[in-house]
Amino acid sequence: MAIDEVLRSGWYLRGEATRRFEQHYAEYIGTKYCVGVANGLDALTLILRAYKEMGVMRDGDEVIVPANTFIASVLAITDNNLTPVFVEPDINTLQIDDKLIEQAITPRTRAVMIVHLYGRCAYTDRIGDICRSHGLKLIEDNAQAHGCRYEEKNTGSLGSAAGHSFYPGKNLGALGDAGAVTTDDSELAEVVRALGNYGSHTKYVHDYMGRNSRIDELQAAILDAKLGFLDSANKRRKEIAVRYINKVDNPLIRIPQSDRDSVWHIFPVFSERRDALQTYLRKQGVETQIHYPIPPHQQHCYANAPLSSHRFPVTERLSQEELSLPCHQAMSNEEVEIVICLLQNFNG
Ligand SMILES: *Cc1c(COP(=O)(O)O)cnc(C)c1O
Repeated sequence: MAIDEVLRSGWYLRGEATRRFEQHYAEYIGTKYCVGVANGLDALTLILRAYKEMGVMRDGDEVIVPANTFIASVLAITDNNLTPVFVEPDINTLQIDDKLIEQAITPRTRAVMIVHLYGRCAYTDRIGDICRSHGLKLIEDNAQAHGCRYEEKNTGSLGSAAGHSFYPGKNLGALGDAGAVTTDDSELAEVVRALGNYGSHTKYVHDYMGRNSRIDELQAAILDAKLGFLDSANKRRKEIAVRYINKVDNPLIRIPQSDRDSVWHIFPVFSERRDALQTYLRKQGVETQIHYPIPPHQQHCYANAPLSSHRFPVTERLSQEELSLPCHQAMSNEEVEIVICLLQNFNG
């Protein structure tokens, strides 16, 4: 239906379907503006680029970011000639340790980027206070947390701006690449929109050296239709997570803290015998993944960056012990029980 409408309109970019999805997604997240872009990496990159165009940041300025994140959070920073400053996560919440942020601030710090990793909220009141008192932008990487709540608000509306990914495997996924920026800042929204449109607000007038980063009309129409099912899909993910949390009891496997507001994009468990556990589950027909086996500071692409010499023991330990269990709204209770039973019987 949604697809037919786009095909009949003959309009494939920057049309009615995009406008409609942007409006509905902004309403869902609870921000004044939403700008559709080509993917989640672009969303984060264009937020930082827009802050540079607005004079908020300059080459070499620092952005604080959790050391345990997907590489895209960091690529958005380095792509803008900004410097990532890694902060370790808390071993229990798995999110950036808010007690360590203040000591990472220098005169060049301009922003804190929090990542709602695994679908769990990384925001705390302390982080909000630190950003306010130091005059820092608070950027949310909300690629994994569509629908996640913090008190009465949604993640994606807690800071100055947020980047969202609609990669097919995310909680709200397109049938291809797509992403969005949400913000209450009208200037930021306008600059991001122009940057994604060859740097142009007005056709053939170019204010910035922009790029092409747009959401397809087809993807926008699909996302708009799927948005209506997001909360029920998240609810089902939560039910599965609660089963795992309540029932897995094996000293070799650490289960994450229960969390009412998480949307469980990923259900991570941790084990010193991670690789053996993965092999054992695979032999029994259960596929698992590792998010993520190599932290950004140890990646080859950053081998020559100053950050590569630092040690981040908590992050490194998590990368060696993490295993993502199957957790998808389409799983049946029987399937979940089979995984639980296998985990109970794992003996290293
Ligand atoms: C998926 C993801 C991104 C990047 O999104 P793409 O749409 O794949 O570019 C950024 N950050 C995190 C935490 C992600 O999981």
